[in-house]
Amino acid sequence: MQHLLIATNNKGKVEEIQALLNGYGFTLHTPADLGLVLEVVEDGQTYAENAAKKAAAFALASGMPALADDSGLEVDALGGQPGLHSHRFCPIPNASDADRRKYLLERLDSHPRPWRARFKATMALALPSGQVKLAEGQCEGEIIPQERGSNGFGYDPIFLIPEFGRTMAELEMEEKNRLSHRARAIQNARSLLNEVLKL
Ligand code: IMP
Repeated sequence: MQHLLIATNNKGKVEEIQALLNGYGFTLHTPADLGLVLEVVEDGQTYAENAAKKAAAFALASGMPALADDSGLEVDALGGQPGLHSHRFCPIPNASDADRRKYLLERLDSHPRPWRARFKATMALALPSGQVKLAEGQCEGEIIPQERGSNGFGYDPIFLIPEFGRTMAELEMEEKNRLSHRARAIQNARSLLNEVLKL
């Protein structure tokens, strides 16, 4: 079986990507399983640059194909912020996901609702040879002022999917994995993943 490293240290992303790749035919690994400690500086100007940098670094360090995601939340009322900086956006040192959500809501407070937003993800698939391929996905929604639900991670409790009337954190993982930005990016990466399976 072909090996594939899920190139992220974010527990929420690891769980989702493991479920999304279930049944593809890969033997999946995580950096933690391999005892691989790698901090990649996310200094790219785009999701694609950061995802490619993470995937390439993990593929080189592990000697196996690696799949990385760079993702973010873009809020129209904030001109697309926090976007690429979704993780680092809150200025509190060692901010938690709850701190980030609170900070985002404080920034939105003076803006009229609805607070339209979307999650974006770029997946990068890197081979140990250095070759990297990319796929993208996005998911439209709206930020709401009260947290709802306890599933998922990050901004999920304040990200409403209007068609469902539920936040991402009120969806079961199987449901989130049918419509999320990450699920769509992996769908779009399907042919790239199949090429890796044939190596
Ligand atoms: P990065 O891709 O590691 O730079 O982190 C992206 C950040 O965007 C995460 O730490 C979360 O704050 C946010 N984010 C990305 N995807 C999701 C998601 O599916 N749900 C909630 N927040 C997300």
